Formats: sequence, structure tokens, C-alpha cells
Amino acid sequence: MRTKLVAGNWKMNGSREMTVELIRGLAAGLEGGPSGDVAVCPPFVYLAQAAEILAGTGIDLGAQNICAEDSGAFTGEIAGGMLKDLCCRYAIVGHSERRSLYGETNDVVAEKFLAALRHGLEPILCVGESLDERERDVTNEVVGDQLRAVIAAAGVGALANAVIAYEPVWAIGTGRTASPEQAQEVHAFIRGIIAAEDGIIGDSIRILYGGSVKASNAEELFSMPDVDGGLVGGASLEAEGFAAICRAAG
Ligand code: PEP
Repeated sequence: MRTKLVAGNWKMNGSREMTVELIRGLAAGLEGGPSGDVAVCPPFVYLAQAAEILAGTGIDLGAQNICAEDSGAFTGEIAGGMLKDLCCRYAIVGHSERRSLYGETNDVVAEKFLAALRHGLEPILCVGESLDERERDVTNEVVGDQLRAVIAAAGVGALANAVIAYEPVWAIGTGRTASPEQAQEVHAFIRGIIAAEDGIIGDSIRILYGGSVKASNAEELFSMPDVDGGLVGGASLEAEGFAAICRAAG
């Protein structure tokens, strides 16, 4: 039985005030603590503040990105050791915005995945096809290549300490959600690739769905057999709505 995980990706949104409001509101919405795993991923500059407010809530902290290097002359970058120092449990790697806006290739994403593991962080590896790729019917090739690049670099065993997020690019921030059946089909495909190499990890790895998840569609998506929770962008910026999504996974 896989424990569901719901992670909120704030993207480049927030302020000191909003960090307090969102986390206190989320904790209140989850009353005695979340029933599944819940994490918030604020911008780097609010991680330390968030860690303090999260203490004792049972809600975890994640980073939105990580540097592939561990230290040194990499101006503006944030290393895995620093994220661990700030009590992060997770680090998102390969978000589609990083891939498309910052040129992160499958190889770069694999390096970041390895960096997260080196520092005891659980990478949340994002994979997903663009609208054009879906329309050309190459979703499986694209998602398979993104996943296999990480398996080639890290070995399938590394996935024992990782989470996958299937995020069709056409559904991110668009209000257009994959149907539960569309999500299930790709999640089963992803699980199948992993299970072909290691049945135990294939069975136990959590595969989240991301792309316009909201309180009104979360339950249906999370009820699919291979959907183990969600990576939530826009809807994680409103405490009560995000708490409702987390409850739908509980
Ligand atoms: C995301 O940022 O990973 C995401 C899925 O965004 P949204 O929920 O807004 O589509």
C-alpha cells in the first residue's frame, strides 16, 4: 500500500506574510495532522521561515530546484546540502518550466536527481509531454526517454528513494486537466518501465499526477490505481483549497 503524497509547488510566488498565512491555514485545514504525506515547496528564500512554521505540523518541506553541483563557484545556485540544512525532505527536479525555460536536458535533470540523493533528499522527478507531442502520439516515447535517462544515470535502485510526477505540459497552469483515464494510462506505463527492471520498486514507487489539480477533481484523479497523489501548482496557493486536495488523498 503506497502512502499518497500531495506536494504544493508555489513556483515564484510568495512573501514572508504569505508563507505564514499559507502554512498556518494549511495546518488548520488538516487539523490533527495530514493523513497522507503533504509537502509545501516555497521559493528558496522562504524555506528557512517555512521550516520554522512547519515544525510539529507533520507537513514536510520541499525545494523547487537543486544545483547538480555540491559547492563552489556556481553563483546564484543552491546546493543539496543547503536544502538538507534547511530541513527539506524533497527536491523537485525536471519541472517542465525548468526544462523549457532554462534548457534543462534529460542529462542535466539526471545530474540534479543524483545530487538530491547524495544529500539525503527525495527527488520528485517530473516527466511529461507537450501538447504537440501528445497530438503526435509520442507521449510514451517522450516520458519513457525522460525516465530512462535518470535510470541510466542513477540505476533503478535509486528510485527506491524517489517520487515521480507525471505532469503533461498541456495541463500545467492551463486549467485543462488530464482525465483520470489519461493519467492512469501514463502512470501505468511509467510503473511498467520501472517494474520491468525491479518489481519491488515498481510496485512501491509513488507516481504523482500534476496539471491543474484542484479540489473539485482531486478525488477522482487520486482514485485511479496508479495515481499516488498530486503535484499541485496554482491550487496550492490557497490554503483551504489545498487542504481539501490533501484531504482527498487521505
Ligand atoms: C506545477 O506547477 O507543477 C503544476 C502542476 O501547476 P498547476 O497545478 O498550476 O497546473
